[in-house]
Amino acid sequence: MSEVLSEIKQFESLPKERVFLLEALGRFLAEDLSSPEDLPPFSRATMDGYAVSAKDTFGARETEPVILKVIGEILMGEKPRFSLHPGEAARIATGGMLPEGADAVVMVEYTEENLGLVEIKKPVAPYENIIQQGEDFKKGQIVFARGTKITPAVIGVMAGLGITNIPVRKKPRVAILSTGDELIPPEKPIEPGKIRDINSYSLFAAIKEAGGEPKIYGIVPDVAEELFERLKVAFEENDVVLISGGSSVGTRDYTLKAISQLPGAQLICHGVAVKPGKPTILGKVQEKAIFGLPGQVASALLIFYLMVRPLLLHLQGANEKHLFLKKILAYAERNIPSAPGREDYIRVKLTPFEKGFTATPIFKKSGLISSMAEADGFLRIPESSEGIYEGELAEVFLLP
Ligand code: AMP
Ligand code: MG
Repeated sequence: MSEVLSEIKQFESLPKERVFLLEALGRFLAEDLSSPEDLPPFSRATMDGYAVSAKDTFGARETEPVILKVIGEILMGEKPRFSLHPGEAARIATGGMLPEGADAVVMVEYTEENLGLVEIKKPVAPYENIIQQGEDFKKGQIVFARGTKITPAVIGVMAGLGITNIPVRKKPRVAILSTGDELIPPEKPIEPGKIRDINSYSLFAAIKEAGGEPKIYGIVPDVAEELFERLKVAFEENDVVLISGGSSVGTRDYTLKAISQLPGAQLICHGVAVKPGKPTILGKVQEKAIFGLPGQVASALLIFYLMVRPLLLHLQGANEKHLFLKKILAYAERNIPSAPGREDYIRVKLTPFEKGFTATPIFKKSGLISSMAEADGFLRIPESSEGIYEGELAEVFLLP
C-alpha cells in the first residue's frame, strides 16, 4: 500500500474554521501556533520554603547553617511588594512568584525560623526548586506546527497561553451507501435469504473515530440507475462517499459504472494488491473522493483503515505521521503462510509477554465480522514474502 500516500495527496485539505478550545480535541492545527506570552509568565516556586539568592546559601550545613533575615511573606497570586538584597530571604509557597533578587527556593525542611531570622541548613543551586519565566514557552516562539494533533496536553498548553480560538480544518462529511438486494436494515426482522446491513454501521463508527461526520444513505438495490441516482445525491452533500459492495466485476456490480458516470470522474485505482480487499475502487470527482469498498465485512473495514482513514485525516490537515495506523513489532505465535504477489493483512490478537507481544492469527473468512471484532490489529506480510515463521518479528498495525 506504499502508493496510498501519493493517492490521498491528490486531494486538497478541507477549508479552515475556528473552534473553541474544548471543541478542538482530536483535531489538527490548521496553522502554526506561536506564543503570545511567556509560559509561565513569571518565575515560580515549586516547593514551599524560602526564596533566596542561591549564592547566599553556599557552604550551608546542618551543623553550620547560614543565617538570613526574613523580610516578609510572598502571598499566592500576588506580586511581591519587595525585592531581596544580599543576606535576605522571604517565605514562599509552591506556585508563589519569586521576588526580584531571588533565583532559588530552599525547601522548608532544611530551614528553621526564629525571631525574624532563618537558618538555612543546605545550600541550593541557582534555579533550584523554581520554574523560570518562559521555561515552557517563550513569547514569540512557535509552540506547535500546523498538522499537530490536538491532544489533552496540547489543549493544556493553549489554555496556559490564553489561546481559546483554535484554527482547525472542517470535518469531512462522509456518505455511506450500502449496495445489495440481500441487505435489510438492522432494526427490521430477519427474512429468508436476507442478511442485515453490517457495513453501514461499522463504517459509520469508523468514520467517527477518524474525525469525520458520517451519514448513512441507506441500502441501495443492485440496479445500476438507482445506484447512480443515490450516488449523485450523496456526492452533492458530502466531501467523501463510501459505497459498500458491488465493487468487483460481477454482472451485478455497478459501483464502478456509477462512479464513472459522475461528471469529471477520474479513476485513481481499481483493484488493490491487498488481501483481503482486492475489489477496491478510488475515484476523484471534482476534489471529492469516492470509494468503492468490498462488501465482505472484514475487508470493508480493513480497506477503510488502510486507505479511507488516512484520507480523512489528510483532509483534516493532519501531519503525515498521523495518517496511518500506529504499528508495533510483534512475534508471530505460529507459522503464517502467504501467497506472494499480494500484500497480506492477517487479523491478529496480541498477547503481552516479557519481550513484547505475540501475535496470534485469526484464520477466519473475511465475510465473518467476528474475525474483525476479535482482532487487536493487522499483521502485514509484504507482497514479496511467502509468509512469516513462528517466532519471527512482524509488523502489526494497531486497530484504533
Ligand atoms: P459484494 O462486494 O457486493 O459482492 O458483496 C460481497 C459479500 O459481502 C456478499 O456476501 C454480500 O452479501 C456481503 N455484503 C455486502 N454488503 C454488505 C453489508 N453492507 N453488510 C453485510 N454484508 C454485506
Ligand atoms: Mg453485492
